[in-house]
Amino acid sequence: MPDRMPDAIPALAVYACTPAQSRGRRHPEAAPDGRSEYQRDRDRIVHSAAFRRLEYKTQVFVNHEGDLFRTRLTHSLEVAQIARTIARSLALNEDLVEAIALAHDLGHTPFGHAGQDALNACMRDFGGFEHNAQSLRVVDELEDKYAEFRGLNLSYETREGILKHCSERRAREFGDIGERFLKRQQPGLEAQLANVADEIAYNNHDVDDGLRARLLTIEAMREVPLFARHHDAVVARYPDLTPKQLRHETIRRMINAQVGDLTENSRRQLRAAAPQTVDEVRSQPQPLIGFSAAMQHDNLELKRFLRERLYQHHQVYRMTYKAKGVVRELFDALFADPRLMPPELFLQTQSAEADQGEAGRARVVADYVAGMTDRYAIDEHERLFDARRLR
Ligand code: MG
Repeated sequence: MPDRMPDAIPALAVYACTPAQSRGRRHPEAAPDGRSEYQRDRDRIVHSAAFRRLEYKTQVFVNHEGDLFRTRLTHSLEVAQIARTIARSLALNEDLVEAIALAHDLGHTPFGHAGQDALNACMRDFGGFEHNAQSLRVVDELEDKYAEFRGLNLSYETREGILKHCSERRAREFGDIGERFLKRQQPGLEAQLANVADEIAYNNHDVDDGLRARLLTIEAMREVPLFARHHDAVVARYPDLTPKQLRHETIRRMINAQVGDLTENSRRQLRAAAPQTVDEVRSQPQPLIGFSAAMQHDNLELKRFLRERLYQHHQVYRMTYKAKGVVRELFDALFADPRLMPPELFLQTQSAEADQGEAGRARVVADYVAGMTDRYAIDEHERLFDARRLR
């Protein structure tokens, strides 16, 4: 008999996070009506301004290059979809994994990693800039619309999942949420899962976008064993597909293979370690959610290929160069003269500077630049630096 997906949501495993055992919110709140605590987290994330901006932020391709490329919004939805599927089959908390997936990229600068690297360089003397720590800062501090607290006041487990990695120095600033980086502990399983789902999503959609942008070719992609295996199987079974169908059939099989491997291998590791509580998950020496050794190897080959052939592709490199310049020039101008920012932000730089000196001013500028979408950063750069805009 073929395997059938269960129709009902199964009961949660003992090692899943549950609201009843949550470490709670920083500002205690009454339990929500008609939805779980993690659903409430998810809803607050979806209603945040930072979430709406994800639509106009990119990872590899600049937003205006084409309407079909992934944005951080569609990426986050893909991560949520992959993570929820796996969560359900491992009896983990689907609401929590969804909240983490939707929030994981909220702290990203415009222009993906190019923007983050440029902003980190600008902030070198003032504590640096890490997009992951910034995602937590967005939900803890920067979203500003609730009467009773700053940020979104999310549950500990959602915040734990958002802070995927951070330096030891930053970890100390984050208090309880940073402790695991100092104690070398693991986060809950939902956080581990959202992290791997992120990788599955971006590696595969970067292949898709790279092929559609013609920065990659099928022939070159066949150097990657995972791609070659699935591509050749599709061609053997369906010799007459259009290039679009072939691309899609290959990539969907790659995603399926990775999801299947991750699910089965994690199930094996969970069975072997048999944690009875979330805290037992946290004190494991290694994450329990992960690929088999063989898939780990295939995945590394895929990543290495993308790094060399796509992320360092001549056209991407030129775009990255320009994007870094936009971020750097915006930061430098606004830091040198904060009056160039909207008046309420100028006032913020003044009070931050009174509290923390230049580093306080730099942080307000960095938060502002990091919050910009690709197109807003490009427009603002033009408004500030293009003399023709004076005419
Ligand atoms: Mg991501």
